[in-house]
Amino acid sequence: MKVQANRLDRGFYKYQKEFEDKALEVLRSGWYVLGKEVSSFEEEFASYVGSKYCVGLASGLDALWLAFKALGIGKGDEVIVQANTYIASVMGITINDATPVFCEPDEYYNIDADKIENLITDKTKAVLVVHLYGQASNMDKISKICKKHNLRLVEDCAQSHGSCFKGKMTGTFSDIGCFSFYPSKNLGAFGDAGAIVTDDLKIAEDMKMLRNYGSRVRYYNEVVGANSRLDELQAGLLRVRLNHLKELTDERLEIGERYLKGINNPRIELPKIREGADAVWHQFVIKCDDRDELIEYLKSKEIGTIIHYPIPPHLSEAYEYLGHKEGDYPITENYAKTVLSIPMYNEMTVEEQQYVIDALNAF
Ligand SMILES: *Cc1c(COP(=O)(O)O)cnc(C)c1O
Repeated sequence: MKVQANRLDRGFYKYQKEFEDKALEVLRSGWYVLGKEVSSFEEEFASYVGSKYCVGLASGLDALWLAFKALGIGKGDEVIVQANTYIASVMGITINDATPVFCEPDEYYNIDADKIENLITDKTKAVLVVHLYGQASNMDKISKICKKHNLRLVEDCAQSHGSCFKGKMTGTFSDIGCFSFYPSKNLGAFGDAGAIVTDDLKIAEDMKMLRNYGSRVRYYNEVVGANSRLDELQAGLLRVRLNHLKELTDERLEIGERYLKGINNPRIELPKIREGADAVWHQFVIKCDDRDELIEYLKSKEIGTIIHYPIPPHLSEAYEYLGHKEGDYPITENYAKTVLSIPMYNEMTVEEQQYVIDALNAF
């Protein structure tokens, strides 16, 4: 049996008719950018998350970039972010000329809340939490720290659609929750798309201005903004999928449950779930000291895997200028050498799941 790391095509065929009908409706409408699909999606997604406002954008990176810009965070400012995140989280900070200050993760792969306060300086303006792999971060502690030190809080929810901490959705704990709808995300579009959510009307209005060349009134430009508009086709298709997000998430939970129950190889460490946190399994990440041997073994069984992520941002060529070196963040660096994402996607069959479990147990 062949089991790929991901199967986006199955996510399309699951609701093929609805997607095709919506695509045709938009194509025939004659209106393609910032129209009623976008405003309807913004309303529906805000309501799903439990925020007052949602602003549709062109990507998750844009959401992060424009979020920090809207908060006035830039040159000379520091933002604390976990060291083991996807590099886009860090780029959202550095595109604004602000400085990322890396924090080691905890055993749940999220920012270690106990290590944040030591990193706060006179220049610290914000904390960016990333609910990595779909599991909510320790929001009680992090919110308290931000309040105490008067710091802005931003959430990177690119992997955590529908994930809650103590019953409250990720994205609603902070000044701005940033989402990506890249096709492989739990709520995926059929191309690039993103959004922010917020309870602050001024932030929502500023984000709408920033996404449209810094313009609130046509041809009157206040600041140098971006072209980061969510298009009607993606917004329409996202509305279709959002309608089914509950069942799509439940399906992932079932697969995660089967993996947690079925995988029992002592060489493999299973993901842990924090008390009070949901894991919506954007990725199901196992840990193995012989990770590279495991990848080869699984490849021989035609099972695809992905490493999220092999090079931590502080060691990436892009961030050489920050002057970090190997050994600066040992926990993060160890994760980069040992973590492995096994197949996890909607419409994965029970036979495929069992094949993966059996292969892992036989390793
Ligand atoms: C995917 C992702 C992003 C970037 O989203 P894009 O839509 O690809 O720009 C940012 N942060 C995290 C954690 C992600 O997984």
